[in-house]
Amino acid sequence: MSEKKSNKLISILVPCFNEQESIRVFMNSITPVLKSLQDNVEILFVDDGSQDETLPILIKLAGQNPQVKVISLSRNFGKEAALTAGLELATGDAVIPIDVDLQDPVELMPQMIEKWKAGADVVLARRLNRPSDSYLKRFAVNIFYKLISSLSSTPIPVDVGDYRLMDRTVVDSICLLPERNRFMKGILSWPGYETEVIDFTRPDRAVGRSKWRLWKLFNYALDGIFSFSTAPLRMWTYAGLLVSFFSLFYLLIIVAKTLIYGIDLPGYASIVSIILFFSGINLIGLGILGEYLGRVFIEVKQRPVYLIKRTVGFENTSE
Ligand code: UDP
Ligand code: MG
Repeated sequence: MSEKKSNKLISILVPCFNEQESIRVFMNSITPVLKSLQDNVEILFVDDGSQDETLPILIKLAGQNPQVKVISLSRNFGKEAALTAGLELATGDAVIPIDVDLQDPVELMPQMIEKWKAGADVVLARRLNRPSDSYLKRFAVNIFYKLISSLSSTPIPVDVGDYRLMDRTVVDSICLLPERNRFMKGILSWPGYETEVIDFTRPDRAVGRSKWRLWKLFNYALDGIFSFSTAPLRMWTYAGLLVSFFSLFYLLIIVAKTLIYGIDLPGYASIVSIILFFSGINLIGLGILGEYLGRVFIEVKQRPVYLIKRTVGFENTSE
């Protein structure tokens, strides 16, 4: 833990995908907060291949405001890739990733920076509750956190999104992770370091609507589990052992029965149920194996996580 002096550079990292309505609202609410800070600030917008007016709006903004820098990706790579691009290009002593939709309250920033200067390397913003979320979603989210914390060796903080402050050391550590399957909740938490938490209540989106649907969330949860734990593979070993044990038991019963009572042919129902049941079990096992194989396939191809089309506001701006 080192004491950090004032006049540091803070990078605020904002991924944007089709957010033409949100950017102005975002700038309006963040500007007074930034004015109250004593530190230098760069606002790093990552345009994640938006189809609407997002990029022209951002470029115009960069022309008017020297604090604003823009990274434009060649297509939509997803928020995780956009964040990765931003983390790699951010130059600040601390980096704060934040959503443009104002669901992460900008008012927390001074508090985060204060805690950072007091010695914390990571300051997490924890959502207390989401009044707008359905009961089902909250229930599913709870189960997800319970499951992943028991399966993964990387501690993944509960109810914490990407909104957090990270010291340069932490950002550098994250940039060391080369993986293509970028489950950000896990990746951002992987380095560890001195961590503090601030609680807040998460509001609804300011404008536009979330691009997350329940099915996508479910897949995201599976991604998290398969990317940060090999426990499902291990589980399969246990399931196999258990099934073999009971099968052996059943086999002994059948042999004994045949020896004592002779051959008794009818058995269609039991045979069919056993075949169906074990085919199902086999398929699930194959599926889980496939999940890991698929990830290995993506990793060995060594493709870059994102491609930059253009940057604006950097010293060597590319047009
Ligand atoms: N986002 C992005 N690329 C995408 C999807 C989203 O950069 O493919 C950005 C989006 O512009 C926003 C942030 O990620 O700033 C969070 O997106 P959203 O509000 O849709 O997600 P949620 O808040 O529901 O998690
Ligand atoms: Mg949002």
